Amino acid sequence: MTLHIAIDGPAGAGKSTVAQRVAKRLSIPYIDTGAMYRCVTWSALVKNISLQDEYLLAELAQSLSIKFVPNDQGQLIYLDGQNVTSAIRTSEIGALVSTIAAYPLVRKTLVVRQRKMVDESSGVVMDGRDIGTYVLPFAEVKVYLTASLETRARRRYEELILKGYTGTYEDVLHVIEQRDESDERRTASPLRKASDALLLDTTTLTIDEVVAIISSLCVTRQSRKRS
Ligand code: C5P
Repeated sequence: MTLHIAIDGPAGAGKSTVAQRVAKRLSIPYIDTGAMYRCVTWSALVKNISLQDEYLLAELAQSLSIKFVPNDQGQLIYLDGQNVTSAIRTSEIGALVSTIAAYPLVRKTLVVRQRKMVDESSGVVMDGRDIGTYVLPFAEVKVYLTASLETRARRRYEELILKGYTGTYEDVLHVIEQRDESDERRTASPLRKASDALLLDTTTLTIDEVVAIISSLCVTRQSRKRS
């Protein structure tokens, strides 16, 4: 399949789970752009780089080696050779990442890297906030996944609890609300549904149902591309 599939939407809408499953089904790579912003945030904390220093953060974004390695459970993320799959998904990183993602210089640097990764593969599933609107405006399949705020917070809370999180559901809901607001309000490629994206509300849909809808959309687009 040589399709480019862009999946955008707010936090907790199920993007990465769905994107991974679609990529596996179509045997194409999955690029988790949120993980890239998370890697920059995590690395800045480890290296004691000020989260206010846009220029240094952009340099960091440029220099990091970020690798996605698929495995049976989904995919592992390596940052400068270290497995950071769980480390970048903590509530602490979740609460800080959208500040860093709002810096135009950081975005510019990561977008160049994301487009390069796409150029190096024939077909890709990429998820994030600005994929259909900015990173891959030519993507043949664009989906905007969403769900009610409470459903998204519940999903994220359950995910974090499994990883030993000790905070409350209300804390998670508050962070998600703030992150959505920051992602939607920033000036540099804010979170927005692309005009040609399919809007999918997953509040009452199972992952299997969402994957089936997107996969059938891909088959339709692929056959249209061939004819
Ligand atoms: O998808 P995930 O929740 O891991 O993304 C973390 C954060 O990274 C988002 O809240 C957003 O601030 C930022 N992000 C972004 N653009 C993307 C992907 C993620 O601004 N393409």
